[in-house]
Amino acid sequence: MEKNYRAHLTGVFGDPVDGNPTGVMEEAAYAAKGLNFRYITMQVKAEDLEAAFAGAKAMHFDGFNLTMPHKIRVIPLLDRLTEAASIIGAVNTVYRDGGDWVGENTDGKGFVQALTAQGVDLHGKRVTILGAGGAARAIGVECALAGASAITVVNRNETRGRELAQLIDEKTPATGSFQPWVGKAAIPAGTEIVIQATCVGLHPHGDQMPEVDLDTITAEMVVCDVVFNPVMPRFLQEAQKRGAQIVTGIGMLVQQGARNFTLWTGEEAPIQVMYDTLEREFAE
Ligand code: NDP
Repeated sequence: MEKNYRAHLTGVFGDPVDGNPTGVMEEAAYAAKGLNFRYITMQVKAEDLEAAFAGAKAMHFDGFNLTMPHKIRVIPLLDRLTEAASIIGAVNTVYRDGGDWVGENTDGKGFVQALTAQGVDLHGKRVTILGAGGAARAIGVECALAGASAITVVNRNETRGRELAQLIDEKTPATGSFQPWVGKAAIPAGTEIVIQATCVGLHPHGDQMPEVDLDTITAEMVVCDVVFNPVMPRFLQEAQKRGAQIVTGIGMLVQQGARNFTLWTGEEAPIQVMYDTLEREFAE
């Protein structure tokens, strides 16, 4: 049989992108499955996205991720969007389906999968999301599509916060509401799942914590954080001390990476290899 030396190409376009750890995880997964795939971390400036996309097409990429500042700008360049990406209004993953280049958003699906993996069912749940940025948007929409009944968005910037609450209310089966973030935010009574979806506590500011009244966190709650480096942000440590079940951001990162792996390779992802690789990476 004739040998095939051609590598399948995937990667991420972003700016800045130097600190993006996804490549280490995806390359470990490709190696574990013996696939001749590569994941390349590429700096692409905002104004160069169209050229970079044309280059990816010319080099027969199987797909790629997008991070800041491309998640919205890429949309007009695509043939179509998945339902979730279309509601969220942002794309973090591009894959090929026949001749089409399709835009998907795996951030929120990764989050929901990380919850499911820890035995947390979203059906009928009352959820509070801290933050209303890109991650919060993807998570809010996917939690609503996965069956959450009511979602409260707590955010400093009122316009962004109200917009997300309204999006959930109008485009998904869940009820969306907004609570302004003034001073120490109280988690609304009756909340069953709290999601810290701001960037507060992210390395190198691991000692910082979102301004939340910790006395409103109870042992009955599930408390999640999107920050994955450090693996145990201070907010989660405090929630754990109060008896809450906690869900770390590394699970979301692995699960969204696993979805991308499958979209690109058509194979099941080696989740444990991906998880262990990232944990080692962040320990260094
Ligand atoms: P954005 O810049 O889009 O949004 C940031 C959000 O954080 C905004 O809602 C902002 O509020 C809020 N915020 C920032 N500082 C504070 C503060 N001091 N107090 C209260 N709120 C604050 O960022 P992203 O949504 O893209 O990313 C957020 C985090 O999610 C990052 O840490 C990122 O690493 C993480 N992430 C994790 C993933 C994973 O797989 N685990 C995947 C994707 C992201 P305001 O609107 O008022 O300015």
